[in-house]
Amino acid sequence: MKKLFALFGNPVSHSRSPIMHNTVFKHLNYDATYIRINLEDGQKLRETFFSFGLSGANITVPHKEVAYKACDEVRGFAKIVGVVNTIINENGRLIGYNTDADGFMQAITEFGSINTILVIGAGGTAKALASRFIQDSIKVDVLNRSASNLKYFQNKVDNCYTWDNFKLKKYDLVVNTTSAGLKDENLPAPKELIDDILKNTSFVADAIYGKLTPFLKLAKKDGLTYKDGADMLLGQGILANELFVNKELKIQDIQKEMQKSFEL
Ligand code: NDP
Repeated sequence: MKKLFALFGNPVSHSRSPIMHNTVFKHLNYDATYIRINLEDGQKLRETFFSFGLSGANITVPHKEVAYKACDEVRGFAKIVGVVNTIINENGRLIGYNTDADGFMQAITEFGSINTILVIGAGGTAKALASRFIQDSIKVDVLNRSASNLKYFQNKVDNCYTWDNFKLKKYDLVVNTTSAGLKDENLPAPKELIDDILKNTSFVADAIYGKLTPFLKLAKKDGLTYKDGADMLLGQGILANELFVNKELKIQDIQKEMQKSFEL
């Protein structure tokens, strides 16, 4: 029987996930379709999942933390961060996973050895990435607009800063996990701060994909090596697809086909 998968989020119209997963299903003859579902009320995630008869789903902004609560069981790294981006229907039980952080780790392998990272932002993506970096013994500082969202990071990372008390130092990598620049032309922090930060880092990454954010435009102007969120998206997608097909397809084949979807 044909399996149905979906992306839940709000908005979802811009997402590349349907084309990524459908390309894999089509070219590897896996009998499944992936659709997008715009979900306004995150509390309705579970009932909507079942009403569509889904075999699995991805979850994007702003429902990843609600998704964690909607699951019957959460496995692996998602348990540590409380953030779920992939759900599998296992005999009527919803099992939650997080593939974002491992997807990001794959994306930055080309930067070589990274020992210190500044994470800008303190939302779901920041939590997942910072926790994953710590697992790899990377030193992490977090800089966020508001102090309230820094609580999660306080005994976990080396330093938590808001714009007012940030202390400049050198980093191997600075990553923007805020949504500043996604639908606007904002920088993730005041320009003077970003200018100083970019002068003191070797590499720059942005979780946002599909556009050169104002943050990356500055990095480019400064001649820095940078990457947008496309490889992170690809990385998390490959790992999610492997869960969707329950390892019935080879990860190398999934990777090859999903990579092709980025050229479409
Ligand atoms: P959240 O809503 O959980 O967090 C948003 C964060 O952005 C908060 O720290 C918030 O600060 C900050 N922020 C929002 N607007 C501004 C602004 N104008 N200036 C400064 N800071 C701001 O979002 P997520 O963590 O789920 O997602 C963040 C981004 O990452 C999105 O753009 C999303 O598209 C992208 N993403 C990309 C992925 C990929 O595969 N490439 C995967 C996952 C996410 P405050 O705490 O002060 O409100």
